[in-house]
Amino acid sequence: MHLTAYARAPLLCVVLGSLASCGAESVSGDPQGSDGSSSEGGGGDTGFDTSGSGWEPDTPPDHVTEHLEIWDFGPEDLCAGQIAMMEREAQRLSAEMGLSLQRLRVAWGEAATESLCDAVVRAQGCARGSGANTYIATGRESASHELVHAIRRQNELQTHVFFEEGLAEQLGANRPNGSYSAWLPPSLDEFGPTVLLQYSQSDFYVGHKVPGDFYTLAAHYLTFVRETYGADALTSFLRSAGKSNVDEAFADAFGVSVEASELAWQRDAPSSYELGEPCHEMLEWGPDGIALEQVLSCELEETLLYAGSGLGSTRGCCFDLAEPTSVQISLEVEEGSVTLLADECWEISADSEESGVSVSRLTTPKTLLLAGCRWRVTPVVSTPGGSFRVTVAPVE
Ligand SMILES: [Zn+2]
Repeated sequence: MHLTAYARAPLLCVVLGSLASCGAESVSGDPQGSDGSSSEGGGGDTGFDTSGSGWEPDTPPDHVTEHLEIWDFGPEDLCAGQIAMMEREAQRLSAEMGLSLQRLRVAWGEAATESLCDAVVRAQGCARGSGANTYIATGRESASHELVHAIRRQNELQTHVFFEEGLAEQLGANRPNGSYSAWLPPSLDEFGPTVLLQYSQSDFYVGHKVPGDFYTLAAHYLTFVRETYGADALTSFLRSAGKSNVDEAFADAFGVSVEASELAWQRDAPSSYELGEPCHEMLEWGPDGIALEQVLSCELEETLLYAGSGLGSTRGCCFDLAEPTSVQISLEVEEGSVTLLADECWEISADSEESGVSVSRLTTPKTLLLAGCRWRVTPVVSTPGGSFRVTVAPVE
């Protein structure tokens, strides 16, 4: 599951307009819900606790895709782009994990997580059941994360919560137009895998002082493991762990003990990994800069809802600036904002903006110096059916 309060690496924004949406992609965890009480419960060799997994909808699904049956609990809108994105993510995740994907039930919205997640701490989402009885309850932020849990549950795979949540955070990092920073919380240095593998599921979810820290830590460690020992070895481990002793499965898959990998992790790993693929579409920076036009409406497949702020795009548009460049940003929209976030920078000058810029509807364009970075363009409109046009043009 996913915890509600979630830390992420600091993101500094320069707010030019009245709407600061730089933090809109905050990482969500679902710490409690997804795994229910399974890792330690009975359930034979699968380790699944099947209690509480008996949701039986009494109405037909509101939406059906190739693999998903979706019930809309609300209250937030479920836009067409969200439905399409969940189906794409389910397919991507099953392929990345090398696991089959069967028809999966999805309960959408905050009302669904409240009624179906039965979590001790408020959860943003959860996955329950196993095999053909698997379902998830989720909103936008946790959808990909819960799909990771669900696909493993469908395949009746589950191991210690440390690995389950680390994997869900790592592979489920593709939040709409966002990315996920798996970082090492400085105050939690003493909590490595050897310690956390001794934790019960509930202790893991509650965390140490700040709920959610163990999620990013687990994602960070698993990313190190993937990069150090290879994706194939990690896939192999995640198939076998849970069906035998975790330490033995780990040594079999990676050729080292958990303790040895932890020492290497502490010694060699970077302080953070940026996960997710926020840039789906590259805009070519030409003599006139870039322009992005779109109509955002909940019925359109390129639209989803950003809770509390408006309709957003699923497109994930980015552009590269080779060097620090003075630009003029113009936004034409009835009501809304556009945020530029730097994902990766290669040339920064003393006075150039290198983190993020949010611009609300403007009567006059804004001019500023952007650093040489890959910039992600995230528009949000507040008027349903509203169109926007944003331009970023070089100025002398
Ligand atoms: Zn989870």
